[in-house]
Amino acid sequence: MPEFSLDLNEEQRDLRDWVHGFASEVVRPAGAEWDEREETPWPIIQEAAKIGLYGFEFLINAWGDPTGLSMCLANEELFWGDAGIAMSIFGTSLAVAAIYGSGTPDQLVEWVPQCFGDADDPKVAAFCTTEPGAGSDVGSMRTRARYDEATDEWILSGQKAFATNGGIANVHVVTASVEPELGSRGQAGFIVPPGTPGLAATKKLKKLGLRASHTADVFLDDVRVPGSCLLGGKEALDERLARAREGQRASGQAAMRTFELSRPTVGAQALGIGRAAYEYALEYAKNREQFGRPIIDNQAIAFALADMRTELDAARLLVWRAAWMGRNNRTFEAGEGSMSKLKAGEVAVAVTEKAVQILGGAGFVRDHPVERWYRDAKIYTIFEGTSEIQRLVVSRAISGRYIR
Ligand SMILES: Cc1cc2nc3c(=O)[nH]c(=O)nc-3n(C[C@H](O)[C@H](O)[C@H](O)COP(=O)(O)OP(=O)(O)OC[C@H]3O[C@@H](n4cnc5c(N)ncnc54)[C@H](O)[C@@H]3O)c2cc1C
Repeated sequence: MPEFSLDLNEEQRDLRDWVHGFASEVVRPAGAEWDEREETPWPIIQEAAKIGLYGFEFLINAWGDPTGLSMCLANEELFWGDAGIAMSIFGTSLAVAAIYGSGTPDQLVEWVPQCFGDADDPKVAAFCTTEPGAGSDVGSMRTRARYDEATDEWILSGQKAFATNGGIANVHVVTASVEPELGSRGQAGFIVPPGTPGLAATKKLKKLGLRASHTADVFLDDVRVPGSCLLGGKEALDERLARAREGQRASGQAAMRTFELSRPTVGAQALGIGRAAYEYALEYAKNREQFGRPIIDNQAIAFALADMRTELDAARLLVWRAAWMGRNNRTFEAGEGSMSKLKAGEVAVAVTEKAVQILGGAGFVRDHPVERWYRDAKIYTIFEGTSEIQRLVVSRAISGRYIR
C-alpha cells in the first residue's frame, strides 16, 4: 500500500502544465470572440487535434491514470481557459465515454475514430439522452427503438433536447427505450452513423453561457441503423431486459451509467471556471484602489477571496476523491460522484458571482472576462443532473430511503 499523498506525480504535473499552456496561449485569448460569435470554434478544435489534446489516444491515456485524476486535471485547466471553447473540444468525450462504457471492442474500433475525425478534418460527436418531456426524469424517455428482424435494423423515432453537438456531429449516440414498461432499465444506446437519413436538428440554440459550444434539439424520424449499432450488442441487451423483467437490478442503464462515470470530470470543469474567476478577482483586488488603498486591504474583500479559495479547494478534494473512487472501483456509498459535481457546480456559481462583485462595474461589462465566466458557470447546476438531482442521489444513498 503506498503512503497517502495528495502530491501529483510527474506525469500528472506534466499533463496539467501542458493543458494549461494550451489553455492560456490559445483558448483564453479566443474566449471572448467565440462567445460573441456563438459559433463552434473549429480552428481551435483543429489546433487541439494537432497537438494531440483532441482525440481518443489522449482520452485513453487520461482514463488510464490509476489514480483517476488526469481527466480532472485536464478538464480543470482547459475550462480555466474558456468554458465555451473547452466544451467544444471535450463535448465529444461524452459520446465516446458512452461507446467506451457500453460498446463492444469492435464498436469501439469502428466508431470512436469517426467521433474525432483527424487533425486535417476534425469531427465532433453528440450524446443525446435528454428529451423535451424527459430531463431529470430519464426513465420517462419516449424515443423508441424497434427491432426489424427481417433487415436486422433498429428503427429509432422520437425527439432529443439540448444535445451538445446535436446535428453537427459526425456520430450521434442516442439512447432510446426498447421496452418502455421497464423505465430506464428498458433503455439502450445506439450509434447513428454519419449521414443516416431521418436524423435532423434545430439550429444552434441561443444560450446564457457556453455560447461557443453547439447545443441543439435532435429529431429522429424512423431512423434506421444496422443491428450492429446497438451498443453492447443484442445478446447483452436481451439478457439485461430479461433480468429487468424478473425485477432484478439491471447492471447497465445506458444513460445513467454514462452520467455516473463522468460526474467528477464535469465537476472539474466547473472548478476551472471558478478558479479563473477567483484568480482574476484576486489580482484585480490587489491593483484596484479606492479610498487611497487597494480594495483587498478591506476585510470584506479579502475575506470574500479567502472564502472563494477555500470553497474551490474543498470542491477539488471532493472531485479528486470521487475520481479516485471511480477509477479504483470503490462503491459510492454516499453518492460521492454526485456529491462532487453538486459541490463544484454550486461553488463555481457562487465564486463567479463574488468575482463580479469584487470587480464592481468592471465585473458587469465585457471588457473583462468575469461576466462571461459568471454566465458560463450557471450550467453546472443544471446539466449532467441538476443540483436537486445530485441531492436526491446523495440523500437516497445516505438514507437508504426512496426520497422524492
Ligand atoms: C448547454 C446544455 C448542454 C446540454 N448537453 C446535453 C447533452 O449533450 N446530452 C443530453 O442528453 N442532455 C444535455 N443537456 C440537457 C441537460 O442534461 C438537462 O437540461 C438536465 O438534465 C435537466 O433537465 P431539464 O432541463 O429537462 O430540467 P427538468 O428536469 O425539467 O428540471 C426543472 C427543475 O425541476 C427540478 N426537479 C426535477 N425533478 C425534481 C425532483 N424529483 N426533485 C426536486 N427537483 C426536481 C430540477 O432540478 C430543475 O430545477 C444539456 C443542457 C444544456 C442547457
